[in-house]
Amino acid sequence: MPEDRRLRRIVVAGGGTAGWMAAAAIARTMGRAVDLTLVESDAIGTIGVGESTIPPLVNFNRLLGINEAEFMRATQATFKLGIAFDGWKEPGHSYFHSFGMTGKDHWSAGFQHFWLHGREKGYDDPYDAYCLELKAALEGKFAHLPDEAMNYAYQLDSTLYAKFLRAMAEGDGATRIEGKIARVELDGESGNVAALQLDSGLRIEGDLFLDCTGFRALLIEEALHAGHDDWTHYLPCDSAIAIQTESVGPAVPYTRAMAHDSGWQWRIPLQHRTGNGIVYCSRYLDKDAALTRLLGNIEGQTLTQPNFLRFGAGARRKQWHRNVVAIGLSGGFMEPLESTSIHLIQRAVLRFIRMMPLHEISARDIAEFNDQQHADMLQIRDFLILHYKATERRDSAFWRFCGTMEIPDTLAQKIELFRETGRVFRKNEELFAENSWVQVMMGQGIMPRAYHPIAEKLRDDELARLLTMLRETVTKTVAGLPQHSAYVEHYCGAV
Ligand code: FAD
Repeated sequence: MPEDRRLRRIVVAGGGTAGWMAAAAIARTMGRAVDLTLVESDAIGTIGVGESTIPPLVNFNRLLGINEAEFMRATQATFKLGIAFDGWKEPGHSYFHSFGMTGKDHWSAGFQHFWLHGREKGYDDPYDAYCLELKAALEGKFAHLPDEAMNYAYQLDSTLYAKFLRAMAEGDGATRIEGKIARVELDGESGNVAALQLDSGLRIEGDLFLDCTGFRALLIEEALHAGHDDWTHYLPCDSAIAIQTESVGPAVPYTRAMAHDSGWQWRIPLQHRTGNGIVYCSRYLDKDAALTRLLGNIEGQTLTQPNFLRFGAGARRKQWHRNVVAIGLSGGFMEPLESTSIHLIQRAVLRFIRMMPLHEISARDIAEFNDQQHADMLQIRDFLILHYKATERRDSAFWRFCGTMEIPDTLAQKIELFRETGRVFRKNEELFAENSWVQVMMGQGIMPRAYHPIAEKLRDDELARLLTMLRETVTKTVAGLPQHSAYVEHYCGAV
């Protein structure tokens, strides 16, 4: 049978985190079964932000056979156990969204039901006291525990991560071409992208193109006009300023999200420095005031010039259109509040590999891919909106807008169901599981009016024993953990 090479040539346009995650995963998984080329422009560069991640990245790296200590050394990464939210419910109030499980669920009812019943009976330990990751984070502790009993992610330098993945991808046979894409050439008959023409005159043909050109979306939007859904009416922040500072003190194993009167500010400790940034809504705060506010709330000397960024929350209507798949910022963006962008890259890359076309591109594959991507983004969108909507803040025009804005019906249903019954359900492989929703809803001040009757099945002494046992296990385990920064130093040095 003659060899069919029609769908072997994959071209990745763009070499940011998205481009190199895609190239590294495809090269490692598919090997010689594909011809993989990546084009990136040194002159254009990458967006240069994206440091906080969520636990599935641990699996992505494992899938690629990456040695964790080597990866952490190369990317100056620290471990991350969750996010501390300061001032979101009201100024002066804090809560924590951890990556752990709080307490112990029964199959019929989450731990919150038992905790709520316990509160009625006079057990006044906060919900947080039952979560290992949360308590460890706040005490600045970390270790890998047997049976993966501690769930974690990384805080990393994404530029270094892209560099690390580039070495892997090139080692696995991917070809890198440096140059600026000047024109995207379409095939007159099919409407597909036929080739990328570079400034240098080089022409790169391909069968499948991954658009990883960031907000520019050169292929998926500029050339193919896939369309864009705008969600800025739900997520009004549209600007950010990022700046790096020296580390002061040991790195903590969590990211901070500190609300201010027109948005919020992040602080992400890496091994060698701290990432900082202010996210804000330009309708309520101007650029100069935002910069002043950011500079007034950083620790340590600045190491970089401020990086000014503009964005709009939304998603490409078709993430896969014709022979182009959008991965990364070209596919959409919803501000970095829960560190979901790198995760969405990971999801899209793995999904694409699962749906890799055989001899021709199937419209069914495209429809399935777009459906799944869209569902991921809508679920994440709702979770992000929750943080803004469920606020008691009315101290600025921004928060008054957020607290009273319309929200999607899907989110309203989730909030009201929880308020009435204490129940929350994870649907269709949703990224954020029940416990994430519970932590954020209660953290933002939404308290259930009732709990599942099964909580009353326990006699008072049984309930007391359960709560004490769970809380003491957390306390004891945390007491035995090393300090996070010492652990990172030892772990990374020990490769
Ligand atoms: P980019 O980094 O912009 O890369 C685009 C690539 O395309 C570059 O290599 C560029 O050179 C190339 N390119 C563009 N045009 C051309 C051309 N004409 N010719 C040749 N090459 C071209 N995500 C997280 O998961 N966690 C976070 O904490 C986080 N924080 C963020 C904070 C902010 C303020 C913002 C805006 C984003 C944040 N993100 C975060 C998102 C994260 O930065 C991105 O998802 C990630 O960096 C991927 O970007 P990208 O590769 O899609 O685009």
